[in-house]
Amino acid sequence: MFKTLIIISLFLLTACSSPADVQDTRFIMGTLVKFTVVKGGHDQDDVEAAISSAANEMQRIEDMFTIYGKHPNAVKSFNASMPNTPIVLPDEVNQLLERSLSIQQQSNGAFSPVLGAVNLLWGFSGEHPPSAPPSADAIRVAMPAAHCIKKQPDGSGLHKWSRTHANCQLDFGAIAKGYAIDQGIKILKAHGMQHAIINAGGDIRLIGKHGERAWHIGIRHPRKQGDVVEALNLQGDVSIVTSGDYERFFIYKGKRYHHLINPETGWPATSAQSATIIASSATLADAWSTALFVQGQQGIKLQNHLQQKVLLIDHNGKIYGSLKPNPDSH
Ligand code: ADP
Ligand code: MG
Repeated sequence: MFKTLIIISLFLLTACSSPADVQDTRFIMGTLVKFTVVKGGHDQDDVEAAISSAANEMQRIEDMFTIYGKHPNAVKSFNASMPNTPIVLPDEVNQLLERSLSIQQQSNGAFSPVLGAVNLLWGFSGEHPPSAPPSADAIRVAMPAAHCIKKQPDGSGLHKWSRTHANCQLDFGAIAKGYAIDQGIKILKAHGMQHAIINAGGDIRLIGKHGERAWHIGIRHPRKQGDVVEALNLQGDVSIVTSGDYERFFIYKGKRYHHLINPETGWPATSAQSATIIASSATLADAWSTALFVQGQQGIKLQNHLQQKVLLIDHNGKIYGSLKPNPDSH
C-alpha cells in the first residue's frame, strides 16, 4: 500500500512539472516572481520572449510605484511635495490612486493608500528588516489623517493632487503587485499565450489550463509550515491573492509584529493570520486581501456582497469561508 502511494505521488510530481511548460523566475517587487507558460504550439524562443516582456513590464510598474530606493518617480515626488501644493501625477498613477481611494472608502478605511510614512517607520520593506517596533510616540507622529489627499480639478485634463500635511504619503505596497501581475498577464496574452500563471510570492493570476488539467494551487497554512489549508484546481481566468502575517514579521518580547497595518492605530492589525481573496483581477484581489486581513471576520459580509470568494484565518486560527468553486459539493 505504502509503495503504491509513493509511486502515485511520484507520478503526480512529474505530471505537475510537465516538460511542455516554460518557466522563469525573476526578483521583482521584493519577491520572487515565477512565470509558468504552457508551451502549446509556440516556439521556445517566443515563449521566453513573452515572459521577458511581461517581466520588464512588471519591473516598469515597480519603478513607477515604489517609495523605496533612490530612483526618482512621481510617487516619491508627491510624498516630498509641499503640503497644499498641487502636483501632476501621471495617468497610470492617477488611475491606481483613484482605485485605491475607492477601496479605502468601500473598506471603511481598512485599506489605506496614505500610510507611507507609517510603513517607512516600521521598515518592513526596507533594506534592513526591523527586529523591534518603533516607539508609540513615533507612530503617533507619523500617522496621517485618513483623507489627507485631494484632487484639484482645473479643467486642464491633468491629474493634479495635493496633500494636507507632511505625514500624508502615498504607498501602493498593497495593490501595485496585483496591478503588475495584471499587466504581466496582459503582455503574455498579447504575445499569444493562452495558458499561463504568474505567481508573485503568493499573489497569483492564472489563465487557461495546465495541459489537460486545471492549475493546481495550494493556500499556505499561516502557522504550520509546509501545510496547505485548501488545495484548489482552478482554470479560466482567476486572480487569487493572500495577505498573511507570516512572511514579513518579527517576534519582539514574545509578540508578533508584521507588515499589515491597521490604519486606525498605526500598529499591525490583530484580527487575522491570513486572508485570501479571489477577485476579477489581481489588482482587486491584492487590495481586498489586505483590507480583509485588517477587518478580519467582520469584513466577510462585504466580500459576500462584492461576490468575491474568501478564505480567512482569524487571529485564533479559526477558518472562515472557502475558495472552492462549489463548497456545498464537498
Ligand atoms: P504583501 O506585500 O506581503 O503581498 P500586501 O499586499 O497585503 O502584502 O501589502 C502589504 C504592504 O502594503 C505593506 O508592506 C505596506 O507597504 C502596505 N500596507 C500595510 N498596511 C496597509 C493597509 N492597511 N492598507 C494599505 N496598504 C497597507
Ligand atoms: Mg495586498
